[in-house]
Amino acid sequence: MPELPEVEAARRGLETQFLGRTLVRHELRLPKLVVAPVGLSLDLLLGKPLRAVQRHGKYLPLQFDDTAAIVHLKLSGQLVARGPNIPGFNAGHPVPHWGADLPHKSTHLVLTFEDDATLFLTDIRHFARIVLLPSNELDDALAALKLGPDAIGPRFTRAWFQEAIRRRPGARLKPLLLDQSFVAGLGNIYVDEALWEARLHPERIASSLTDDETNGLYDAIVRVLEIAVPIGGAEILNGKAQPEHGAFPFVHGRQGAPCLRCGTPIVKERVNNRGTYRCPVCQPEIRPG
Ligand SMILES: [Zn+2]
Repeated sequence: MPELPEVEAARRGLETQFLGRTLVRHELRLPKLVVAPVGLSLDLLLGKPLRAVQRHGKYLPLQFDDTAAIVHLKLSGQLVARGPNIPGFNAGHPVPHWGADLPHKSTHLVLTFEDDATLFLTDIRHFARIVLLPSNELDDALAALKLGPDAIGPRFTRAWFQEAIRRRPGARLKPLLLDQSFVAGLGNIYVDEALWEARLHPERIASSLTDDETNGLYDAIVRVLEIAVPIGGAEILNGKAQPEHGAFPFVHGRQGAPCLRCGTPIVKERVNNRGTYRCPVCQPEIRPG
């Protein structure tokens, strides 16, 4: 599923290649992709320039003058930009593969901007959504989502994290970090990576963490996103990490591969019904000592 690094790649691509460009054409190939109150439609965006591109967690709000569009890629959405006058970019779920002919049969929306800069939204599982709303309602709409601080935003500080962990003493770590109302942007891949980096079992209870462990978990989240954001996210295809062993991601999608720290084979388990990868030695169920 596209998480913060994948959505941030889309935000950066849109900001650098589409900001200020006017939308000249749209082709909506799956009507349920767009959710809009009566009276709002993609037609209202025609002839309008893209004025702002934001991101909070996995939500990607775009502003076209008086109308805004909040994009959510959900499980398998991808945004690909192409055109003769832009570098283009690939962001989100890696299927169909980068470089595939577009539009693909699962391309649900094609937005053509001036100079033939074209944005393709493709989603093989049909869960991605775009919500249209008046731009002056965007802040309230985002507030209503009750998202926690964005994991690379200014509110995600060490002091905030220490206090937030203290306020959720009974929570297990993996479900807590996946909870978008706790911290926004982390998903299954980067939570597994952060917990491995911090040497913490995914089902440790928040109240059992020492101050050092809480600090280490904060540092691990920061470090994992520092690796993942510049590369636009990890490449996972059919549940398998794509690059060679030793490259990022270090544990997610690497069942049976030796742990990079201790050599023990990585195991895959279910936590809250999510496939979860960990090292059984580095991330024991009970804190040693
Ligand atoms: Zn290990």
